[in-house]
Amino acid sequence: MPRERRRVNVAGVVQGVGFRPFVYALARQLGLSGSVCNTSAGVIAEVEGSADAVAEFCRRVRTDAPPLAVVADVRWQAVPVRGGTEFRIDASRSAGGRTLVSPDVAICADCLRELTDPADRRYRHPFITCTNCGPRFTIITGLPYDRAATTMAGFPMCRRCAREYADPADRRYHAQPIACPDCGPRLFLDDGSVGDDALAGARSLLAAGAVVAVKGLGGYHLACDAGNESAVATLRKRKDRGNKPFALMVPELATARDLVRVEGAEALLTGIRRPIVLLERLAGAPIADAVAPGNPDLGVMLAYTPLHVLLFGLPGDAPGPRALVMTSGNVAGEPIVTDDSEARIRLAGLADAFLGHDRPIHVPCDDSVIRVVDGLELPVRRSRGYAPFPVALPVPVTPALAAGGDEKNTFCLGEDRYAWLSGHVGDMDDLATLRAFDAARTHLAALTGVEARTVVADRHPGYRSASWVARSGPVVRVQHHHAHIAAVMGEHGVTGPVIGFAFDGTGYGDDGAVWGGEVLLGGYEAVERVAHLAYVPLPGGDAGVRNPCRMALAHLHAAGLPWDADLPSVAACTERERSILAAALRRNLGCVPTSSMGRLFDAVASLAGVCQRIGYEAQAAIELEGLARKAIGRCGPGYAFGVGESEFDPAPVLAAVVADIRAGTEKAVIAARFHLAVVELIAALADRARARTGLSTVALSGGVFLNTVVTSGTTRRLTERGFTVLRHEKVPPSDAGLALGQLLVAAAVNQGR
Ligand code: ZN
Ligand code: ZN
Ligand code: FE
Repeated sequence: MPRERRRVNVAGVVQGVGFRPFVYALARQLGLSGSVCNTSAGVIAEVEGSADAVAEFCRRVRTDAPPLAVVADVRWQAVPVRGGTEFRIDASRSAGGRTLVSPDVAICADCLRELTDPADRRYRHPFITCTNCGPRFTIITGLPYDRAATTMAGFPMCRRCAREYADPADRRYHAQPIACPDCGPRLFLDDGSVGDDALAGARSLLAAGAVVAVKGLGGYHLACDAGNESAVATLRKRKDRGNKPFALMVPELATARDLVRVEGAEALLTGIRRPIVLLERLAGAPIADAVAPGNPDLGVMLAYTPLHVLLFGLPGDAPGPRALVMTSGNVAGEPIVTDDSEARIRLAGLADAFLGHDRPIHVPCDDSVIRVVDGLELPVRRSRGYAPFPVALPVPVTPALAAGGDEKNTFCLGEDRYAWLSGHVGDMDDLATLRAFDAARTHLAALTGVEARTVVADRHPGYRSASWVARSGPVVRVQHHHAHIAAVMGEHGVTGPVIGFAFDGTGYGDDGAVWGGEVLLGGYEAVERVAHLAYVPLPGGDAGVRNPCRMALAHLHAAGLPWDADLPSVAACTERERSILAAALRRNLGCVPTSSMGRLFDAVASLAGVCQRIGYEAQAAIELEGLARKAIGRCGPGYAFGVGESEFDPAPVLAAVVADIRAGTEKAVIAARFHLAVVELIAALADRARARTGLSTVALSGGVFLNTVVTSGTTRRLTERGFTVLRHEKVPPSDAGLALGQLLVAAAVNQGR
């Protein structure tokens, strides 16, 4: 058989994931000679041998790739035969193009076994890692991915580690962050103890009810015993966090089973990404009430680094808490703290002790938060474990930066057929977050090689995200809800026109109103606003958002319903509030018209007596959803909106809620009937749009679709009626997914020019 030689270019997530040793092993197995190396464009292999074996190699390099690898593209060209029998792994070299960096991934089963094996030389080593697991995104300072371009550069390998690193047959072959107790980073507690003693000290502090700042993968957490009511209350007070739920960390799935209903989420909880998963709290779960007051769910994640595993303790250790509150180490609204000396200052009033280490974190990365709806992921926050994994685009885009929104900011870089979303940046209302935005942007640009020529932002004239990116040049502005619809189209690879439902709390409308209950027909280039929730006055802007009882009064006013004293919303407002509100509404002073669906959820939550003032974003809607879940199967038919030509009117819904309150109807039933009303509204509007246009694909986006009752119910109802439903699975439906849509709209608009 004739010999053949090919140069094979593999693009995708192929660095830092054990790809070269895999290529090496595959080539040896097929009897091929040649070489493989990393470049900044991916991995290049030259393979030589029988024509069959070479062809087989090109096939299996894709199909048999290692677990963390994602092969996006394999291209090859024939090159002259050179002979030889050796297969070499060459040093990295730079080349044009780009490669994809792996996200940070949870400790693998092999490393976990070694960590807990007294005979292993990495027994109890808090920084154990291998080619299949460990930090990536947060320690990489540049490309190509080599130890020198990570924050492990300052830790020279010992002889034994160097031997493993250089051995293609070893699981740690070219695993850049590898280390061992002899050469790796050190743990320390601020009482001066180090290593195992520091861990034992932290564990006993936690057991005694202290708040401990723990340096993790993407930043500091504040940890405390989740079963200790006073410890959790102390942390809540220090963080000044209102009633916003805290996330929990548990050592293993079995512990999670004691706290929440894990069915359907096992793979997500134990997988390589290990996000916080929001799951229904079990009655009697041994968790302090202060962890998530008034919330039917708990956010649970499994220990994802060796340090976390050790913090919970191995067999034989003095026992500590089995569930820890693990909340981002930051002052409310500020970015998560990554730097050790900064942690001492910024977290000084928050933590009783610091468990730190000397491996630097190059960029912050918060924990991801995911809901599970009908077996599919519904991202709430896409960060650790996901970033910087790209979203494949249905259409190529020229290099661009999309700034995202002002709340829960996440930006995105795009080029060709990829969009790289940043991790969670935060709320763009303070300088620290704006600086974090710049740092994350520089880092992501370095990892992706995208040199943005177009900059995109929201049309809101007051958005800090927009003015921040406009410092350096002109910005393409994209309407908020258009971007939402484009985002969900984009993640599903859809290019054609859709019937879009963009339901959220707030977004700047083309008429200057606050939009948020929008039916939009169209695609990336343009959408037509065919219907919206009837405008009501939003009293006092932000104050109206923070006080659902005021929103309820505004809705009653707009619906022509009296403010009777027996209604919970009316009772909740002070007399002074009512008179100011009445005057403002009468004279239309300080009121902006809004079609916000989020505000309607607030109003109904208030009317039903569920929530009158919020301590964190969307609290009223979250509590209303929690109640609705209890009664959705037994609540009878839902309320009905008035559906007009270009508006849908909530007045009949509000009148029905008021009637139900007076009839003494259970809150949960009111909540469920309202959720059904929203589902039926969408179904009716989709039917009408299909009858008029022939379109049968429905896109659902905006923060309202974080609501599992709405998303699940709407998807089922529309699917029954023969619609194709696009709902978010890769990026959040909230403004944290906005950047992806902005990118696609701007690309389409630019192309049309
Ligand atoms: Zn591992
Ligand atoms: Zn070592
Ligand atoms: Fe929005």
